[in-house]
Amino acid sequence: SMASPTLLMRVVASAYSVAEKAATIVRNVMATGDLGIVEKSGANDLQTKADRLVQMSICASLARKFPKVTIIGEEELPPDEVNEELIEDGHCEEILKKTCPAQYTGIKEEELVIWVDPLDGTKEYTEGLLDHVTVLIGIAYGGKAIAGVINQPYYNYEAGADAVLGRTIWGVLGIGAFGFQLTEAPAGKHIIITTRSHSSTLVNDCISALNPDSVIRVGGAGNKIIQLIEGKASAYIFASPGCKKWDTCAPEAILHAVGGKITDIHGNSFQYNKEVKHMNSAGVLATLRNYDYYASRIPNTVKQSLVP
Ligand code: AMP
Ligand code: MG
Ligand code: MG
Repeated sequence: SMASPTLLMRVVASAYSVAEKAATIVRNVMATGDLGIVEKSGANDLQTKADRLVQMSICASLARKFPKVTIIGEEELPPDEVNEELIEDGHCEEILKKTCPAQYTGIKEEELVIWVDPLDGTKEYTEGLLDHVTVLIGIAYGGKAIAGVINQPYYNYEAGADAVLGRTIWGVLGIGAFGFQLTEAPAGKHIIITTRSHSSTLVNDCISALNPDSVIRVGGAGNKIIQLIEGKASAYIFASPGCKKWDTCAPEAILHAVGGKITDIHGNSFQYNKEVKHMNSAGVLATLRNYDYYASRIPNTVKQSLVP
């Protein structure tokens, strides 16, 4: 008979269901038409009712099951009682059937940090670019992103009424990643994917220096990593501060689980222990394959402008 599932696998299995609940909330808020938009640091840094409700739903649901795990979410919220309707207590049975990698079997609750981006791509959500939106739950141990769940609530929304709306992608280092079709980008083509709503001269100068065949500008860190693992783009390059640990943790775990690589613009790996600063000050460089090709072509002038 099977050994009882490890803490890590139970957390991932719960995060899967919690992310599906989150996706339902994201769609329901949009359906009401009342987004309740609030500006945080400015007009390009927004929060909606969906960001707030999903933050409460994910954090309260996971905290109830795993009370000693550290959970760090993007949105600051008043310490209100969370409505029971926001709590998800289910889990994904299929994940519990997978074997936990040996190096993670002894992990205790106190040793895990969960990074939550309740709604990644908020700017695009408010503009109706719905497939840019993802829900990100990243799981870190020993400062490393080891597991993650990405839900894309509006996957297939332009495919017609018969198509199944939304999908959940999950991965664990040493197991792999599931819920999508792993595809490599066209060989010999340099397709760079980058921000749509947070561009700057530096962001654009860095991309120009790489002489790409094409540039895709879309919202969301989660969305851009999905495009890398599905072969739509060859490198995600963002030479700017702005991206935070909750934007990169889940995407990093999934990308690394399929052999990709994500670092800052200097090539430094990201740290996800609970004491770390939230901002990824030195930008993002991610690929599924050929990381060194892109890393070696980032101009020194760009590197000098971005202090880790
Ligand atoms: P983007 O590629 O512009 O969608 O950015 C990826 C993630 O980083 C999103 O969660 C953005 O909100 C965040 N981000 C990037 N740049 C900024 C910025 N200048 N201000 C606030 N958030 C940012
Ligand atoms: Mg985000
Ligand atoms: Mg967000």
